[in-house]
Amino acid sequence: MELEFQEYRVRKIVNVHRHVDGPRFWTKYSAHPYVGCRSGCEFCYLRGGRYLGKRDPNTFDTQIQVKTNAVESLGRELAHLPPDVITCGDWQQPAEDRFRLSRGMLGVVRELGFPLFVIERSPLVTRDLDLLVDINRRAWVGVVFSLSHVDPALKQIFEPRSPGTKRRLQAMEQIAQAGILVGAALMPILPGIGDDDQHLDEALRAIHEHGAKFVLAGGLTMAGVQAERTLAAARRLDPRLETGWREFYQWAENGKPNYGPSRAYAARLGLRVRELGARHGLLDRMPRYIAPGPLAVNKRVAEQLFLKTYELELDQAHDQRIWAFRKAAWTVDESQDSVARLYAARGEAGLRELPGIGMTIAAEIARWLRDYGENG
Ligand code: SF4
Repeated sequence: MELEFQEYRVRKIVNVHRHVDGPRFWTKYSAHPYVGCRSGCEFCYLRGGRYLGKRDPNTFDTQIQVKTNAVESLGRELAHLPPDVITCGDWQQPAEDRFRLSRGMLGVVRELGFPLFVIERSPLVTRDLDLLVDINRRAWVGVVFSLSHVDPALKQIFEPRSPGTKRRLQAMEQIAQAGILVGAALMPILPGIGDDDQHLDEALRAIHEHGAKFVLAGGLTMAGVQAERTLAAARRLDPRLETGWREFYQWAENGKPNYGPSRAYAARLGLRVRELGARHGLLDRMPRYIAPGPLAVNKRVAEQLFLKTYELELDQAHDQRIWAFRKAAWTVDESQDSVARLYAARGEAGLRELPGIGMTIAAEIARWLRDYGENG
């Protein structure tokens, strides 16, 4: 397969997310030096959606756009942003061997003292372990390796060119041994063929044995070209799987599938991964990095509020309730006024002055503050 590198300059490289990505990766910023991915996994959600812009989705794995000024843009933009967790770099392709932009970007993150989050399918990230260790010493680093399963037969069908699972696990171990927080993203878990206890348990045991502290589970999405290709791969494995997935995603003939599995399925899967993960000593959420400072208490309370949204999702609670906690998490996370100070000054009435914080949530926050010894 021909691989074409298309070099260009960007005006801006940092995406500033409106809200922190809790309770999953906890990132505020993201910056990536390449567009497209040589691994070309059939189920890659980047094939669908807005990632490729106006590009033909079928060029996703053959044409790699290279942001040649990624390093200088990152330095210029981060210099004007308050430090917070940034997802940075792309190691999963030959472009990084040649252009080394991810390494350059890590250098900037280190110099400016930002905490870093990395999510990868490639062991090449260990090439830059020296920088990761340094950033971890100055601020914080969390690394997540993506793997959908540890089944070679499924890998061959759905991600034949992605780096080998064993190599990913070895890289995970190397990073853990360097004292860096490591976890795994079981994403996407393939319905009907990768979501049974045996597949899940094998994957969880392997990641635990290689130093992971937590696991994040995610179902398979279906959109546009990604959906067509994923379904074609399923057909190659077993034509009955195609029929099963059409039903699972309520994929009408000539129509569109649902984007993701049902809430009930997602909740069952989340609970199962939690239960099996606990047997291996794995958390099912990534602990949040919180920088010291007067607003650290807000971040801790926001973490609890975000975690509560996940609990409610697992309980299949009413949407309205989930949204109430999510909005409260955003409010507290982004408030420039310390919730500990508000509580100390006026009790729960002080907390209720914040937008979207009603009686129930104020009482929960007050309880956490008392647990932290932050009750004035
Ligand atoms: S390695 Fe990751 S980014 Fe690349 S195609 Fe596979 S899932 Fe997508």
